[in-house]
Amino acid sequence: MRQELQRPRGTQDILAPISSRMEQLRRIAIDTATRYGYDLLETPIFEQSAVFLRVGESTDIVQHERYTFTDVGGVDLTLRPEGTAAVARAYVENGMANKPQPVRLCYYGPMFRREKPEALRYRQHTQFGAELYGSTQPEADAEVILLACATVEAMGLPAPLVRLNSIGCSVCRPQYRASLLEYYHSHEEELCADCQSRLETNPLRLLDCKVDIDIRDRAPDIKDYWCADCAAHYAELVALLEASGRTVVRDPFLVRGLDYYTRTVFEIAHPSLGNRAALFGGGRYDGLATTLDGPETTPAVGFGMGMERILSVLEDKNLTPERRIYVAHIPGSEADAFVLAEHLRQEGFPIDTDLLRRSLKAQLRDASKRSNIVIIVGGDEWAQFKQVTVKDLAQNEQRTMPVEDLVPYLQQLS
Ligand SMILES: [Zn+2]
Ligand SMILES: [Zn+2]
Repeated sequence: MRQELQRPRGTQDILAPISSRMEQLRRIAIDTATRYGYDLLETPIFEQSAVFLRVGESTDIVQHERYTFTDVGGVDLTLRPEGTAAVARAYVENGMANKPQPVRLCYYGPMFRREKPEALRYRQHTQFGAELYGSTQPEADAEVILLACATVEAMGLPAPLVRLNSIGCSVCRPQYRASLLEYYHSHEEELCADCQSRLETNPLRLLDCKVDIDIRDRAPDIKDYWCADCAAHYAELVALLEASGRTVVRDPFLVRGLDYYTRTVFEIAHPSLGNRAALFGGGRYDGLATTLDGPETTPAVGFGMGMERILSVLEDKNLTPERRIYVAHIPGSEADAFVLAEHLRQEGFPIDTDLLRRSLKAQLRDASKRSNIVIIVGGDEWAQFKQVTVKDLAQNEQRTMPVEDLVPYLQQLS
């Protein structure tokens, strides 16, 4: 196929059976969120670009990775790169701040980032997330983190590890930021190029560096700068998570990439990904909705998980196929087989048929690849007594029965 006709770089076609598995994960995610009281919110997959520009002017997403275009009406639009900003926009725009708090929302759908293509980095990926609005209390952070844990467990992953930190608040973070800058400036010549520019744009992200590990390890710890309120919030959050049976470790280097976090930041880790890698993360962002013309204080905490990442660590990537039934015909009975197949589908059975008018032998070969039950329509038994032959390929059994017995027989098999 000519290159210009192929799918865009960094995207994927999701075929069966992975597509079924993804659909199952979607149901599990939304069901789990529903159990915790979260309502599904569907926002457009594109927003006016200002929404994403407002929430994080110095993030990588905004600078390099946006899919932004001007439509024929001259409106500046961006395919959403993440869910949080769009949910915040919807929260403000739909007046949810005036509804009884807290407001619990979850979302599921495609996100778009023009990332450098590499393993598990897709330019269109699928994200599930939850956002809790209206509570500053540690119970809110705890509930969101517990929902994140419950979701990955419901999807079939082992009990996750919660890596936790607090990046402080507007009272205590400026002092930490100043100390961090002072420390890193004293090591400026030793820093990698990325960190040299982070010194100017986003000092907290210096701790994210995977290169300057030695310098990072000796950097000031934000824990020593927390104000009394931040320290209490963190301690109460840890206590709630541990009392709920979750394993929590503090990660002093965890700061998350996005600018709008306040206090809590967390990552959900999985043993298969090694020490520092995370499955996904989230945190608290009390100032986010305010940047989108929301009320002066709009506490919010949430997470977003990339479903492709989750799928990659699931051992069982395929759904156990449902018991599929193949309706075959003896040549001459194509129409009878066709009608029987339709009748069985209406009764709720998953049915395959031939449609190519092949020989019975060719149909049976085909059936063995996609089904475990074959119903053969035609021949003398059909002509005289309306009887069909049912072959159970798994059990290697065969029986003949009147067509009206077929539905109860198939029902007791499943
Ligand atoms: Zn503080
Ligand atoms: Zn660096």
